[in-house]
Amino acid sequence: MTTSMAKQDAEGSSLNGASKRSSSDRGLIEIDDVKVVYGDKTGSHTAVDSTTITIKPREFVCLLGPSGCGKSTLLSAIAGFVEPSDGTVKLDGELIDGPGPDRGMVFQQYSLLPWKTIYQNIEMGPRLANDIEASKTANSFLEMVGLSKYRDHYPVQLSGGMQQRVGIARALATYPSVMLMDEPFGALDAQTRLVMQENLLSIWNEFGTTVVFVTHDVDEAVFLSDRILVMSASPGRIIADLKNDVPRPRLQSMSTREDFTKLKLKCLEVIRAESMRAFEMQNT
Ligand code: ADP
Repeated sequence: MTTSMAKQDAEGSSLNGASKRSSSDRGLIEIDDVKVVYGDKTGSHTAVDSTTITIKPREFVCLLGPSGCGKSTLLSAIAGFVEPSDGTVKLDGELIDGPGPDRGMVFQQYSLLPWKTIYQNIEMGPRLANDIEASKTANSFLEMVGLSKYRDHYPVQLSGGMQQRVGIARALATYPSVMLMDEPFGALDAQTRLVMQENLLSIWNEFGTTVVFVTHDVDEAVFLSDRILVMSASPGRIIADLKNDVPRPRLQSMSTREDFTKLKLKCLEVIRAESMRAFEMQNT
């Protein structure tokens, strides 16, 4: 599947009917001066501060930073799981005030329903969204992620990589304008992870949705993104906004190219300077 999907990516041809309803003019995210404070009676903690970003439709953005810097919190604010304490988050001009079918989520844990088959896991979203072609939609997405022959298997019968492909198909099956991915390949072994990155780019190339992808892996961010937003240590702020000009279609063999390594070094430099700053602050 990987080879053929990568080939199709390179040729720009259609994977199947699943992308027919995707739209390239939706998926504009506007984050304006957002601050997120967690708190209870015992105290408060600012997880994200002074964050302003605009993400264009179809853009593939990676949020990069060390654990605990607020990446998931920012993603949750876009998802509508967390309400900003200050500032606003808008999708296509509308204020986000809760989760919605216009945003698909993929988490590190596959979070499939274990008592449902692969087909049923994917079909549920379109059916609940009153898609009159829910069955056809589910079969198209199963085909898109190369798992048609596992249609009637249960999640436990699939490998981690296959389960995450189901997770991606499930997130896309309601035709969201934005896909929010929180370290989706973090639990996979290194080889499967590389294959999944290529698969994801093929699907994104075909489907044309905006992607916000959280990672702490610099190589992953450079391989996948159009743009890398580096976050500072707590409280999380955007400290670098780096354009990624490595040409597409991307293949893992491109990781030794000069432009790839140059961007990787730039990210590492920003992260190192920030780590030093955080270290000095802890010691003063
Ligand atoms: P990252 O995704 O970069 O690892 P998170 O957004 O998960 O970071 O967390 C940022 C900070 O906010 C961390 O210090 C974390 O402990 C804290 N945090 C995250 N979720 C909550 C919560 N629900 N309640 C209180 N603190 C939280």
